[in-house]
Amino acid sequence: MNYIIIGNSAAGLFAAEGLRKVDSQGKITVLTADHYPPYSRCLTTYYLAGDIREEQLFLRTTEELARLNLNTHYRVRVTGLDPEGQRVSTASGEVFDYDRCLIATGASAVSLDIAGAALPEVFTLRHLENAKAIQKFIKKGRKAVIIGGGLVSLKSAYALRKQGMEVHVIVSSGYILSQMLNSSAAERLEEHLKDHGIHISLNSDVAAIKGKEHVEAVELKCGRIIDTNLVIIGKGVQPNVEPFLNSGLKINHGILVNEYLETNLPHVYAAGDVAETWDFLRECPRINAVWPNATEQGRVAALNMAGRKTIYKGSMGMNSVDFFGLRIISGGVITPLAHKKDIENALPWKVTEGQESWSKPLAKASTYQSLIWKGNYLKGYVLIGYPERAGLLTAMIRTQEPLAPEVQRNIEAGNRKIVKLK
Ligand SMILES: Cc1cc2nc3c(=O)[nH]c(=O)nc-3n(C[C@H](O)[C@H](O)[C@H](O)COP(=O)(O)OP(=O)(O)OC[C@H]3O[C@@H](n4cnc5c(N)ncnc54)[C@H](O)[C@@H]3O)c2cc1C
Repeated sequence: MNYIIIGNSAAGLFAAEGLRKVDSQGKITVLTADHYPPYSRCLTTYYLAGDIREEQLFLRTTEELARLNLNTHYRVRVTGLDPEGQRVSTASGEVFDYDRCLIATGASAVSLDIAGAALPEVFTLRHLENAKAIQKFIKKGRKAVIIGGGLVSLKSAYALRKQGMEVHVIVSSGYILSQMLNSSAAERLEEHLKDHGIHISLNSDVAAIKGKEHVEAVELKCGRIIDTNLVIIGKGVQPNVEPFLNSGLKINHGILVNEYLETNLPHVYAAGDVAETWDFLRECPRINAVWPNATEQGRVAALNMAGRKTIYKGSMGMNSVDFFGLRIISGGVITPLAHKKDIENALPWKVTEGQESWSKPLAKASTYQSLIWKGNYLKGYVLIGYPERAGLLTAMIRTQEPLAPEVQRNIEAGNRKIVKLK
């Protein structure tokens, strides 16, 4: 069998490993625009923070990759897919035939169409190349503005602050990390980040980046000017679907796939941030663009490509992050309390009750828990502190076992030991 995998990150690497496990003889060609062997995008901000060294970003050793016996082509940009000829074409004019093809092209950072966005100290952060370029501008005492209040933005803010820079985060919405937290938890995180010297402006938009040849300041729509030497734009991502727009692939926001991660084109599969897979909580196709979903989808797609029919059970949103020692984990449906009605309207079921408990014990050890139930089924959670509870709560969401009222009460009270999963 002749396999092509387009992309060499979370979905692509796990697919290659999955294929090799079940097909020791097949020819596996990996086409990637990356310049480096597979690395963790999630860790690039910890590299910028100086928490880890560059070598620690890489996911596999040279020997481990060699054992997979892959034909990996770096710095190759796929530009088209011909489903009838079963061929993939590249920007350099090369053509690669396939029996089975996996699209694992992930997503790209969205840039901003505002004055000054092309200045040399304005960056997005998606690739190791971006991180290395940003690193050259990191210097204690310099100023940075981060545009956006999502995960990549806040992780970047953490990194630069940790390196002694003065950091200002500009957020359009009314609270930070809205994909991962409800408004109550976000307020606690905001307080924590401010305690560590990060400035945060909510409900604010950037009108322009100022400077003739170099970045000098950022102008907000309200007219306020914030002096800065560096700008990082973190306004979300868009799936890399452009090479496939003329291929006949069904594409909504991302590439649509069935429960076997097959696209509508024969022998073509998709996985990771580029694929719209079944969200089993929202009961609709959705891109839940996080690392663990991408690796699991890569693994399942590989089994199906090799002829071992395997159902992908569906994705859910989940994330775990640490800011200056404060651990935040969330999973499933997060109900922003301020917008509970909007969320209810977007869901196929009613949020019957959102349980919230908050405690701020001694010193700085802040903890918080919010559980979202549909009747006696757990649908989502937000934890600040309590990292040891996340595994159990995630398992409860994944298994969707109905819980007896006393078990539910025990979970709400944090009595983990007396909760047993079947
Ligand atoms: C700074 C940062 C921090 C993050 N932090 C977290 C976190 O804490 N937790 C979490 O769960 N997730 C996090 N993420 C998200 C996570 O990294 C992604 O969900 C994950 O990388 C998706 O993997 P993927 O394989 O689908 O796509 P990607 O990682 O985007 O990889 C896409 C691959 O496709 C290749 N490619 C793209 N287009 C082409 C083309 N035309 N031709 C050839 N090759 C192509 C690329 O070169 C690359 O190899 C973070 C992301 C970033 C950038």
